Amino acid sequence: MVAEVIINRSAKKVNRAFDYNIPKELEELILVGSMVLVPFGNSKKLEEAYVVGIKENSQYATKEIVKLKDNLEQSYIQLAKWMAKKYFCNISDCIKLMLPPGTRTKNEENKIHDKKINCVYLNKDIETIEFEIETGNIKSEKHKKILYFIKNNPGCTIPEIEIFTGCSRAIVKTLEKNGYIQIVEKKVERNPLINKKVEKTKKIKLTQEQEEAYNQIEQSIKKHIYEKFLLYGVTGSGKTEIYLQLIENIINQNKTALVLVPEISLTPQMIDRFVGRFGKEQIAVLHSKLSIGERYDEWNRIKQEKAKIIIGARSAIFAPVKNLGIIIIDEEHDSSYKSEMTPKYDAKEIANVLAKQNNIPLVLGSATPDLGTYYEAKQGNSTLLTLTKRANNSKLPKVKVIDLKQELANGNRSMLSNELYNLIEKNIKEKRQTILFLNRRGYSTFIMCRECGYTVKCKNCDISMTYHKYQNKLKCHYCGHEEPVLKICPECGSNKIRYFGTGTQKLEQEINKLFPKATTIRMDVDTISKKNSHEDILNKFKNDNIDILIGTQMVVKGHHFPNVTLVGVIAADSSLNIDDYRANERTFQILTQVAGRAGRENLEGTVIIQTYNPESFSIQCAKKQDYNMFYKTEIELRKQLKYPPFCDIIVIGLNSINEEEIIKISKSIYNYLNLKLDQEEFKIFKPMPSPISKIQNRLRWRIIIKGNITKEANNILNECLKKVYNLNLKATRVSIDINPNNMI
Ligand code: ADP
Ligand code: ZN
Ligand code: ZN
Repeated sequence: MVAEVIINRSAKKVNRAFDYNIPKELEELILVGSMVLVPFGNSKKLEEAYVVGIKENSQYATKEIVKLKDNLEQSYIQLAKWMAKKYFCNISDCIKLMLPPGTRTKNEENKIHDKKINCVYLNKDIETIEFEIETGNIKSEKHKKILYFIKNNPGCTIPEIEIFTGCSRAIVKTLEKNGYIQIVEKKVERNPLINKKVEKTKKIKLTQEQEEAYNQIEQSIKKHIYEKFLLYGVTGSGKTEIYLQLIENIINQNKTALVLVPEISLTPQMIDRFVGRFGKEQIAVLHSKLSIGERYDEWNRIKQEKAKIIIGARSAIFAPVKNLGIIIIDEEHDSSYKSEMTPKYDAKEIANVLAKQNNIPLVLGSATPDLGTYYEAKQGNSTLLTLTKRANNSKLPKVKVIDLKQELANGNRSMLSNELYNLIEKNIKEKRQTILFLNRRGYSTFIMCRECGYTVKCKNCDISMTYHKYQNKLKCHYCGHEEPVLKICPECGSNKIRYFGTGTQKLEQEINKLFPKATTIRMDVDTISKKNSHEDILNKFKNDNIDILIGTQMVVKGHHFPNVTLVGVIAADSSLNIDDYRANERTFQILTQVAGRAGRENLEGTVIIQTYNPESFSIQCAKKQDYNMFYKTEIELRKQLKYPPFCDIIVIGLNSINEEEIIKISKSIYNYLNLKLDQEEFKIFKPMPSPISKIQNRLRWRIIIKGNITKEANNILNECLKKVYNLNLKATRVSIDINPNNMI
């Protein structure tokens, strides 16, 4: 017998099956899905490989499999093959997602750590490290092994490195001395379920709306059929209660439930709701803050069917669940469900495949559904379930929109409108808490007229143009259109054109000046360090009753602060002007979610949205908390301008250390695709430098294609990539992403 195996290496050239003879004594044991060791090339070392097919014989099989390490479910191998094609990556990259955390399959006792442990992180960008490996700067196999292990498991401990890589502590120390890694002392985040004492909760009698939704999903469970549901319900409408009752139904049938939530909302508070209902024994939690040993243990509890409810972030979709009964994806609009790293998979798509395979329901829940998901439901391609009322009758907050142009006309040049200033002052006096939100997503500065709110948009794309400081030009990141920098507003003739780029840091300074007695805490990527997690900051805000929390969109999700009665959005415009077709959608989602932070219990909440565009429909809809009105307007725009869900946006990204090569390859890819792809169906834009044209000394170019990605188009793109890989380029890397989260 002969096995077709995939070598576990990320080199693109080995992304194909190789034939190996199966020794007699292993014939019964080796299956599709087996992890084996094989000799490969001239290397003396055995390589890890996965069996993806078995056949009678092959003329190419000259070598033999040496050892069987572990077995993976066959269906996962099928999934990995499907993913590799769909997401343009190596099969081995996909299989890795399905393996237990850590690469060694020796069970490790869950270590009870001290209060503080040393956590190891990379000190250089992975691209830089890979470059040093390629150029021979890093030669030692052990060094490479450790660096890759840390890349995959940031924050791991030295003992974990020792166990999982088989390398010694001394080597880790050498890497630290040479500046490749850093060792940081960190407070341990225990597995949230250890020592947890949560009050038991009982099933609540569902409201009529909830019951109708529940019954429809239950039908699919009863009949053992696949069905996709969108559970659209305003914040607090009782979606989670429905999940809990569905899960109860599932585990009563001795099946398993898989629940995905965005990483950032995977907080102890959220997990408490599940533990309160079902107890901790049958729940497994998978998230990045668990140590690798803990993740490994959770993985095994799932595999051994000890855990019947799995709650986790994106990658938990690959947990080795047996006997799956339902998949629930909460906050389905959240962009974190799509991976931005290779494999660039979408967990919602994977969930859909798994639900179909298992003939079970897939439930997507949100208060602000992704436009594409809602469109799909409206088209009748999934079942829409709507909850219109809050379950506990608490009121939605009062939302007020403030026109910053008016403030300016009244001589107020500060970041706070008079009204927001007064409300903050009042809140501090009354010992209530305030959240100030300033969305600084994106790197580029945008340009706006302070007199009339005019922003420069590309005439071809209806996307805000971005100011490029270096060339002193405005550019459209979609089609490459350029315009000179404006001095005079073409709309109103004023010269009050300004560049915007205020951040949270500046805001904090200003608040400290305006309210010197108030306590403040700031949360953004700069303050979320390896030592202070997102969670720590939020806990401090809550427990120390800090007056004001200032933050980026990180403050939007997850937490429940009973004492927060005021939420201020400093400039809603910064998300309106990101150069992305989803700008309106993101604005609406963020504003609706931020508004949901205020007045969640008996205290009534107030939300102030400051903006230069008070009439913008996404702001108006958020003010009214009216998703339907937002949807109707936005879907019409997408249709007219041909953006998703009416087509896909395919981004071919190149990066390189060689300018000549990257330009040449970009052009060849462009020409090849022009030849192969149907010109009627696809609009291929010329290769262009990416908006961020260089990262860590690697030049970045891209080709954007608009059209529906059919099976045929997918084949053409895969074929194109293969041709590129066969060129054996040393300096340039190419990847493809469909509808990426980020257009920079
Ligand atoms: P969502 O997930 O939609 O935000 P939750 O399920 O968290 O909503 O419900 C919001 C609040 O309403 C919770 O405190 C929950 O206990 C309560 N609740 C949910 N369903 C009911 C119900 N049928 N009757 C009374 N209270 C309910
Ligand atoms: Zn103007
Ligand atoms: Zn354009």
